[in-house]
Amino acid sequence: MGSTILSERPHAVCIPFPAQGHVNPMLKLAKLLHHKGFHITFLNPEFNRRQLLKSRGANSLNGLSSFRFETIPDYLRPTDVDAARDLPSFCESTRKTGLAPFRELLSKLNDTSSSDVPPVTCIIADGGMTFTLDAAEELGIPEVLFWTTSACGFLAYVHVRTLIEKDVSYLTDGYLDNVIDFLPGMKGIRLKDMPSFIRTTDKDDPMIDIILDEIERAKRASAIILNTFNSMEHQFLSALPSMLPPIYSIGPLQLLLNQVPDTDLKRFGSNLWKEEPECLEWLGSMDPNSVVYVNFGSSTVMTLDQLVEFAWGLANSEQTFLWIIRPDLVFGDSAILPPEFLADTKDRALLASWCPQEQVLNHPAIRGFLTHSGWNSTIESVCGGVPMLCWPFFAEQQTNCRYCCTEWGIGMEINNDVNRDEVESLVRELMEGDKGKEMKQKAMEWKKMAEESTACPNGSSYKNLEMMINQVLLSIR
Ligand code: UDP
Repeated sequence: MGSTILSERPHAVCIPFPAQGHVNPMLKLAKLLHHKGFHITFLNPEFNRRQLLKSRGANSLNGLSSFRFETIPDYLRPTDVDAARDLPSFCESTRKTGLAPFRELLSKLNDTSSSDVPPVTCIIADGGMTFTLDAAEELGIPEVLFWTTSACGFLAYVHVRTLIEKDVSYLTDGYLDNVIDFLPGMKGIRLKDMPSFIRTTDKDDPMIDIILDEIERAKRASAIILNTFNSMEHQFLSALPSMLPPIYSIGPLQLLLNQVPDTDLKRFGSNLWKEEPECLEWLGSMDPNSVVYVNFGSSTVMTLDQLVEFAWGLANSEQTFLWIIRPDLVFGDSAILPPEFLADTKDRALLASWCPQEQVLNHPAIRGFLTHSGWNSTIESVCGGVPMLCWPFFAEQQTNCRYCCTEWGIGMEINNDVNRDEVESLVRELMEGDKGKEMKQKAMEWKKMAEESTACPNGSSYKNLEMMINQVLLSIR
């Protein structure tokens, strides 16, 4: 009986790029599609599966026949997290070795003699996993690419080709403040606000080729989805060129997911590091709007000097703070903080190595966020109504920082060459200054607009998700 019901379900295979900032939003989308009646197969490479098991213990999702995790071989030799940081090699390796095991898995899922799941009817792949398009075309099923960037970040990647054609992409440090005035939708942007990968003097830099190629291949997808909302990123969405497939902005996904009933699946998280729940207990003992939250995401690395400058800036600001320091945050070194700093701040700081960030950003004690401007962190901050200090590290984080600070009014930028005095004064401004108050108000306005965008049944993101499902994912049924 159960299998009759299952065989009627559409079946989506979800394949994220195997890094934290990509797995998180893909899992949210997968949960939403499951709620809408899809059978889901969610793919993790071996290495991520092991990390997930380590971070969650034995607590896996057992017994849910319509949502299954499958493992595919590692793209890169399974060494350690650092291996994944060599981004060009990692991307090259997924592109070269990803398709064969992916094809094999699809045929295993579609083999009715050995499989108890409905045939695969669509693929949702990360924007960086376009090798999957070949498999979708062979099966004649739709494939949606999920770019887990902002719309401004995606548009900046689309514009990389123009920069190269105009030969401005190979300029280095001395030109970073130059304003580029010819990119549609991005008037007044400085070279340094474009994705960091363009800062190369090497015309054969592999990252440039990878970006150009992924954007070119994206044209073959049935649709592209972004975890953003129209009212925030309209100017960028409307500047995306028409040769791209239809774009659906369906974010913030976390707010759409809030509308789904509470289940084991909804609570099932995707953190590759073990969360320290003490963070929430500690925040519970703090006054409302009194804490600065500091977290540089899963991939940022800095020098020990930079870490120490942040530390003294935070200490000298005299504010209370929660600082998440991953064990591998510092380049080739351990993140050891000066004992004087630890002694100085012990009554007003909590240091931890990983936390449940969405819950932290929604905690009433949090007043501001010092962030690396990854898109997930940015949109999660918007959902919490929390203004930011932005210290972008790489990729399109520079672009997110730019628009947080100039268009959206919810951020202030920290110089790349960070020093303690600047950190101290910006943290004070964020927590106590007029500009900080203005940014808080703006952040609350964006939070409200994000909620409106995801409201059922008329929010733009809510409607876009429904349309994407009906017009694209279910199009061949
Ligand atoms: N995250 C978390 N706890 C942490 C740090 C990060 O849960 O201590 C999550 C965060 O909520 C976000 C993701 O990891 O969903 C980081 O993605 P983002 O795009 O901000 O940055 P990346 O890690 O890709 O640089």
